[in-house]
Amino acid sequence: MVRKAVFHNVMSQAEKTEHEVADLCSGLIQYKSAHPKARTDECVEHIKEYMDKHGIPNEVHSRNPLKPNLVAKIDGSTDRTILWVGHLDVVPEGKPESWTHPPYSGKITSDGKIYGRGSSDMKGACAAAMVSARILSQLEEPLDNSVEFWFTADEEIGGGDGARWLSESKTFKGEVCVIGDGNGGGKDNPSIDLGCKGGAATTLIARGQTAHGSTPHLGENAISKLMKAIPWVEKIGDYRLELPPELDGPVETSINFYLENHDIETEEQREATRRLFHYPTVACNIINGGVKRNVVPDYAEAEFDIRLTPGSKPLMVKERIEELVKESGIPGIEVAVGARETAGYYESPDSEFAHRFAETIEKVTGKSPVFKILTGGTDAISIKNYTGILCLGYGTSLTGMAHQPDEHVTVENLVLGVKIYAGFPILY
Ligand SMILES: [Zn+2]
Repeated sequence: MVRKAVFHNVMSQAEKTEHEVADLCSGLIQYKSAHPKARTDECVEHIKEYMDKHGIPNEVHSRNPLKPNLVAKIDGSTDRTILWVGHLDVVPEGKPESWTHPPYSGKITSDGKIYGRGSSDMKGACAAAMVSARILSQLEEPLDNSVEFWFTADEEIGGGDGARWLSESKTFKGEVCVIGDGNGGGKDNPSIDLGCKGGAATTLIARGQTAHGSTPHLGENAISKLMKAIPWVEKIGDYRLELPPELDGPVETSINFYLENHDIETEEQREATRRLFHYPTVACNIINGGVKRNVVPDYAEAEFDIRLTPGSKPLMVKERIEELVKESGIPGIEVAVGARETAGYYESPDSEFAHRFAETIEKVTGKSPVFKILTGGTDAISIKNYTGILCLGYGTSLTGMAHQPDEHVTVENLVLGVKIYAGFPILY
C-alpha cells in the first residue's frame, strides 16, 4: 500500500518534468561528444553540477581524463542495488547539410521534439535518468533498493574507457541493470530489450602481384580477386542459425516489432526483416586497396559487419565462412573471422526482474510490453559478460533514428523514460 502511494507520487511528479527533461537533453546535445574524439568530460561536468545542485552523491570514474564516467547514487535502506546505465558518447554527425537543425543545436521545437546528434541515441534517456535520480533522491522515505545511475563513455566503440572498463574492473556492482539505450517503442508499442545481437567482425584479404597498369596481364590484380571473393562471404547470409527454443517467442515478437516500427518500403526489406534473427546479417562496409591508377595492386581488403543472434553458435558461423572462402577456389585469399564462443547476450523473459520491469512499463503506458532483441549492441554485452549482472533494456529512442541525420526524440518519450526509470526501483 505504501509502495503504491510512493509510486503514485513519483508518477505525478514525473508528469511535470517536460521542460526540465527537454532542457537537460538539449544541454547534453550541445556538448559535442562525437567520435573519434568522443570526449565526455563536458557532459559529465554538466551532470555533476546538476547532481551537486540537488545534493545527490556522485562520483567520477575515469582512466582517460577526456572520457570520464559518472555515477549518481541514491541510497536505499538495503544494499540491494539497481543499476541504470546509459552512454554519453555519440557517433559523428555526417554531412552538416543533411540536417534541418544544426546537429549540436539541441533545438527544442514547439511540437515537442528535440533535435540533434545524440537526442535519440542516447542523451535523451540520460536526461530522463538525471531527472529520475532527482525525483528518487527527494522522496521522504528511502527506497528499499539502492539505485546507481551511470553515465558512460565510449559505448559506440565497445566501451574501452566506459562500460567495458567498469565491468572488467568490477566497478559495476549490483543485482540488476536497466539499460537506457535502444528504442522502447514509446507509449504505443512498449517493449523490453531482452538482449542484443553480437558481431563477428570479418576481414577478407586478397593478395596478388603488382605490375604496370598498362600491362595488367603480367600481374595479378588483388582488387579483382577481392571483388570475386566478396559474394562468397556474403553467402553466410543464407546460413540458418540454430537458436535456443526459449528464444522462439522473443524472436517472433522482435520480427513483428521491426516490421511495424521500421520504415519498410519494399517487399525485399520486409523479407530481410523476417530473416533478421534466423540468419546472420552481412554488410561489406569498408574496402581498401590500390596505391595508384597506373599500378596493378597486390593487396586489397574488405571489412564485413556480420551480426548474429544471441544464443546462436558463432564458432560454427566462423567455420562456415572459412569453408565458403575455400570453396570459392580463388587463390591468394584469406579470411579472418572475429567470432567468440557467444554473440551478444540475452536474458530469460521469465525472471523476477523481467516480470517487475514489465509491470512498471505496463503501469506507465497502460500496455503490456513485448520482449525483443536489439539488432545493434549496447553496453549490456560487457556488463553481462564480465559481471554477470542481469541486464534488460528500455530506451527512449525513436525507432530508426539512431545515427541518422536530423536525429530527434520526443519530449513525450523522455517523460515516459522518467516514469519508468524512477518507477522501477519502487516496484522491484
Ligand atoms: Zn546507443
